[in-house]
Amino acid sequence: MQTLIQDTPRPLTSLSEQEKMFQQAVRDFAASEVAPRAMAMDQAQQMDQELIDQLFELGLMGVEIPEMYGGTGADFFTSVLVVEELSKADPAIGVLVDVQNTLVTNALRRWASDSQKARYYPQLASDTVGAYALSEAGSGSDAFALACRAVQDGDDWVLNGQKMWITNGAEAGLFIVFATVDPDAGYRGITAFLVERDYDGFTVGRKEDKLGIRASSTTELILEDVRVPAENVLNDVGAGYKVAIETLNEGRIGIGAQMLGLAQGALDHTVRYVKEREQFGRAIGSFQGVQFQLAEMATEVEAGRLLVYNAARLKNAGQPFLTKAAMAKLYASEMAQRVASLCIDLHGGYGFTKEYPVEKLYRDAKIGTIYEGTSNMQRQTIAKALMR
Ligand SMILES: Cc1cc2nc3c(=O)[nH]c(=O)nc-3n(C[C@H](O)[C@H](O)[C@H](O)COP(=O)(O)OP(=O)(O)OC[C@H]3O[C@@H](n4cnc5c(N)ncnc54)[C@H](O)[C@@H]3O)c2cc1C
Repeated sequence: MQTLIQDTPRPLTSLSEQEKMFQQAVRDFAASEVAPRAMAMDQAQQMDQELIDQLFELGLMGVEIPEMYGGTGADFFTSVLVVEELSKADPAIGVLVDVQNTLVTNALRRWASDSQKARYYPQLASDTVGAYALSEAGSGSDAFALACRAVQDGDDWVLNGQKMWITNGAEAGLFIVFATVDPDAGYRGITAFLVERDYDGFTVGRKEDKLGIRASSTTELILEDVRVPAENVLNDVGAGYKVAIETLNEGRIGIGAQMLGLAQGALDHTVRYVKEREQFGRAIGSFQGVQFQLAEMATEVEAGRLLVYNAARLKNAGQPFLTKAAMAKLYASEMAQRVASLCIDLHGGYGFTKEYPVEKLYRDAKIGTIYEGTSNMQRQTIAKALMR
């Protein structure tokens, strides 16, 4: 009996003491430091550098980086909790931290050599923002149709091409850039390179003017004869497709968490609002019609949380999680759009203005169904598993 009790898996949403402490610390920080700055950063289309410095100080930019390199030494699930909590206050800050942890440091954790870790981990944990550069103007969903080219020259690789849509481009000091060493080899030519911002020939180009997550920079990258030392190839030459596929499989759980946090944030604002706003002589939250709408939203948010946490816990446990991650990202991002939209409705005309945070969250929700694999790409992954 004793053994049976010990073997009972813990409920998905129950957190360990350490996870609870971490969650509470990030929640407090998000409420006191991030939320008050969110709208101003959105309007300025600019991250507050002070806030980025604080994220580093709190260890939120190196969640999975081992402590010996100055990181927090926590796990993937903790990264997911961090992204969820930050995104309640500002999904733009959520994605900055998400890309840093679930794509960039995650790729290094999986594939970097000891000397690459020794060089870049301490930087990423202390003051260097990372970016992940796969997409190009002509290759999005069909990511492996990329045209960026790498040619070997002595001990270096020489990179030429352009990247588009790169999150954190304006702030980043380190970029994982995907290029092909042999266009005829298809995906087997794709190689991942660690490119430092100050390498000659490397330029961060135009910043996109976006609908949502406006404080998060989305930039073009221009590579003109950029010499990258051979020791900066991440994983083997020709094995970059594996880096791309596998990190994005994990990263999209983080986007699920971003959308989950966003939806929870919008719902929290709305519950507060309907208790205060009076029509027909009473708080609108006292109408059963409104309460039912809140109940539907809370149920959808909880369903999203279960999908996201389950995918993250499976990944942590080293179990297959690919289909579950696609489901989590698909559901959480579509759900966040529905919830944010209904939250505006429940704020009435005020919801349509910048006076209340739900207007921004509604705009921010739109990106969830697009980046790190569109909703159709998630459906394709799920359907492939069904049809096997
Ligand atoms: C704000 C923002 C931040 C981003 N950050 C990054 C980043 O940091 N790094 C990076 O590398 N990229 C980044 N991206 C790029 C992003 O991943 C791509 O935009 C995304 O993968 C979609 O590619 P696309 O824009 O070329 O759309 P397309 O691939 O052209 O898709 C257009 C539409 O066609 C549909 N479609 C395409 N093919 C199929 C198919 N076979 N079956 C059914 N439907 C299909 C899609 O679902 C979509 O609805 C970012 C994009 C944005 C907008």
